[in-house]
Amino acid sequence: MNIQNSEKFYAQAQNFMPGGVNSPVRACRAVGRAPLFIDHAKGSKIYDVDGNEYIDYICSWGPNILGHANERVINAVTETCQRGLTFGACHSGEIELAKLIKKHFPSMEMLRLVNSGTEAVMSAIRAARGYTKRDKIVKFEGCYHGHSDGLLVKSGSGLLTNSIPDSAGVPKGYTDNTLLAKYNNKESVEKLFEEHGDDIACVIVEPCAANMGVVPPQEGFLRFLRDITLKYNSLLIFDEVITGFRLSIGGAQKYYNVKPDLTTLGKIVGGGMPLAVYGGKKEVMQCVAPLGSVYQAGTLSGNPVAVSAGIETLKILEENEAEIYTRLEKISLQLENAMQESGMNVNRVGSIMTVFFTNEKVKDYDTAKTADTARFAEYFRHMQDNGIYTAPSQFEAMFVSFAHTDEDIDKTINAIKSLE
Ligand code: PMP
Repeated sequence: MNIQNSEKFYAQAQNFMPGGVNSPVRACRAVGRAPLFIDHAKGSKIYDVDGNEYIDYICSWGPNILGHANERVINAVTETCQRGLTFGACHSGEIELAKLIKKHFPSMEMLRLVNSGTEAVMSAIRAARGYTKRDKIVKFEGCYHGHSDGLLVKSGSGLLTNSIPDSAGVPKGYTDNTLLAKYNNKESVEKLFEEHGDDIACVIVEPCAANMGVVPPQEGFLRFLRDITLKYNSLLIFDEVITGFRLSIGGAQKYYNVKPDLTTLGKIVGGGMPLAVYGGKKEVMQCVAPLGSVYQAGTLSGNPVAVSAGIETLKILEENEAEIYTRLEKISLQLENAMQESGMNVNRVGSIMTVFFTNEKVKDYDTAKTADTARFAEYFRHMQDNGIYTAPSQFEAMFVSFAHTDEDIDKTINAIKSLE
């Protein structure tokens, strides 16, 4: 695969942006290749500046559940643009999107639109602390909740990929109230509650972890988190930035049938535009300004163009729910089966999956880290050379979309099976 033009752009970009990128994982440092510079994308395919075509399993890291540039979404956005890009004022689209979200996430009795997953999580935690009047939070090793100061402790995603244990620039005091537990390990959570129970505002969790690679919750783990937070009057926050509208139209909370107090959404809910959401119990959300004393605001929040992309995407998912989620499950299972037949160790839930290059069953951060990242890099390069675009990191998810055709799946299976 000739990627000369990408390499040229990459060399230029490094003069302007740290590592040549605007988000670290994109730099592809873990796999020894220049990042692809993208020209355009349509459906299941993405095209680089050298004219190469790839079947895309990054899907912009999750938003593109319908594939790239869905015609209805593009039309909705184009039409909205004609009426103005931003008003910084109220508009009826906000209500329409909120209604759609609440219909499928009934636990989100009241919500706020923001611009990124990072912002959604940061704001949800502030609301939880404001409501409970407690400072401590519990997060899990290997779960990523965006890059706000208090959450950059044993996070997954780019931090795991680039072996950054924490972040410089975060004063120690900012993470003093962040308690760490082990994913799928009830005892580690119990211990924290025994020691700090009355000070814990909330437990935040990826209900199916996807930022240390995909690590599903073990049977009963989410129910346990629900019970223990209720027992100690703490709040349970599901970070559904990845799982929302993906594991099911009602996200992981519907898929696993466990109801959190607060939820964060991102990616799919914005239909490919910068939009995210936090929300939950009315009594908690009523603490947010201007009703309450928890401050949170945003110049571009509820941006009409982003909102219209979100509305159209959710409408398509709603109108074709059975067809879309049945197909996603079917083709994702085909990929999983092919990987297993090739002796790969794969974790999958619905349309997100990760191949781990380790013999251990991956159930938490420690087991994820046993993966052989050099072997992963070989796998990545093999797939790229066969026209398959996957995440350039062992610790990310592969995303399947409704736009992936049977032919795409066959081609991908052939690439998987030809890995030596
Ligand atoms: N939470 C989760 C579970 C995520 O996967 C991500 C990003 N991948 C975030 C939060 C942060 O979202 P953003 O990148 O939009 O800030």
